[in-house]
Amino acid sequence: MKTAVVTGASRGLGEAIAKQLMDKGIQVVGVARKDSAVLPSYKGLKDAGYTYQYGDLQDTAESAITFEKLAASIFSKADDTVILVNNAGVVGPIATADAYSLDELEAHLAINLTAPMLACSIFLKYAKKYNKPLVIVNVTSGAAERSVHGWSAYSTSKAGLNRYTETVALEEAEAGTGNIAIAYNPGIMDTDMQADIRSSEPENFQEVQKFKDYVTNNSLRDPMFVAGVLAGILTGEHIESGKIYAVKDYV
Ligand code: NAP
Repeated sequence: MKTAVVTGASRGLGEAIAKQLMDKGIQVVGVARKDSAVLPSYKGLKDAGYTYQYGDLQDTAESAITFEKLAASIFSKADDTVILVNNAGVVGPIATADAYSLDELEAHLAINLTAPMLACSIFLKYAKKYNKPLVIVNVTSGAAERSVHGWSAYSTSKAGLNRYTETVALEEAEAGTGNIAIAYNPGIMDTDMQADIRSSEPENFQEVQKFKDYVTNNSLRDPMFVAGVLAGILTGEHIESGKIYAVKDYV
């Protein structure tokens, strides 16, 4: 059975990805600071189960230990592909670049960039040790490709994640391992992150009204739909390593 580790599975897109993968018969391990309210009792296809692993991705040293333990346990038993979905993320601090504190900046980069790079590094090492196929998905954002007032940290971390994904894909292709790395841009979805964005002050985030209008215009996608598209990509015939996939190309 395939096994997927999904970070940020407690709610939002991560929880929806966990459900959609379990519906495809893939076993899921969810990493977050809290457990999901629904996944422990969720019934997947063919008894695909769910396990919760506590992890605070802001604490990089602790995350290294968590990912090592998870990878060692999963790869030593794996009889099929292992999937790593680096989904956990934060949008804040939302403010112009002159207003960031050291703590805010460190926390943002630890969660959005260091943690996914660390998890990739550790999972690639174990994939090679046990000679098992690994598929990595890094959840990105359209903000990686455009500058947004007040989002310099977020745009930077997601742009970095895109370049990191493309570089890992290149290295794995050069080495002929068969390991795959893709990014996935989920578009705008109805999750807690959007509520965080809407609570911004206009002086910190000029586009706040546009994001409030997304609710009245019904523009936010259901995370279950967005997760279903990703599950389809992951279980489809061919995954193009290094590609930045986007939900908008599937609607
Ligand atoms: P969300 O509803 O705010 O959920 C964020 C998830 O990340 C939660 O499960 C949370 O778990 C986890 N997380 C946050 N800080 C963490 C930490 N320190 N340690 C461990 N886990 C942590 O966000 P979402 O909208 O589902 O976003 C999921 C991904 O999609 C993110 O990478 C985001 O950048 C991307 N995205 C979202 C949108 C959108 O419109 N929502 C658009 C483009 C891209 P705990 O709080 O339980 O730890």
